[in-house]
Amino acid sequence: MTQSAWTRSGAPVDASTFTLIQWEALKKTAQLGDYVMTCCKAPAVLKTSINGLPFFAHLSDECATAPETVWHHAGKAAVLAGLASLGIEGNDEVPGQSPTGEKWEADVLFKASDRTIAIELQRSYQHLRDFTRRQERYAESGVECYWLVRKETFITLAKATSRLLLKRDYGNVFPPGGIGTGMLSELPVAMLDTENSQRVMFGGLKAATVPAWLAGILNRSYQYRGGSWNLD
Ligand SMILES: [Zn+2]
Repeated sequence: MTQSAWTRSGAPVDASTFTLIQWEALKKTAQLGDYVMTCCKAPAVLKTSINGLPFFAHLSDECATAPETVWHHAGKAAVLAGLASLGIEGNDEVPGQSPTGEKWEADVLFKASDRTIAIELQRSYQHLRDFTRRQERYAESGVECYWLVRKETFITLAKATSRLLLKRDYGNVFPPGGIGTGMLSELPVAMLDTENSQRVMFGGLKAATVPAWLAGILNRSYQYRGGSWNLD
């Protein structure tokens, strides 16, 4: 069950942006192959969950693509579809380099007024120092970077960042107001759920659709507050 797919011509589609009436109408008119799965480019079938959520599914059986790749492709398509819904063209796998010659490749990169923004999708855990190094490389290149990671990765990362945050910003004294999800102000990380309803989650039961999260980056309402990165 996934909410993102590609059209035959390669445009990203987010099923959650359709009303049920639109979705049912599309089901009747869509030809097999009009939509393809982001994971393996196999034809996607339009379905509706028992909870009334539109989604795309493989025509037959399971997907042979590794979970890592499935998550990454679904996430990229979700971000690109979200940007398209805001009238912004994003590109995926965009290479670049910092002024000192350090190379990077953004999962999704887009421009909005005078800002260049990268969205990095990280399913498997990487060490905090790698998050930090990649974030700094983008900063040196004049690129803002925002991370979407799998829930398990977020929880593991939060253990490392909480420890650093408490030591560095609070002198190892746990503040009465808590430290939220224990994230760092210089490292904007949120969770992406690609399996059920395609949502960005911030911890503390807060969540948003992918387009709402992207809009929050653009209008800067996606902010760091008391240890957490989230929307208002
Ligand atoms: Zn597949």
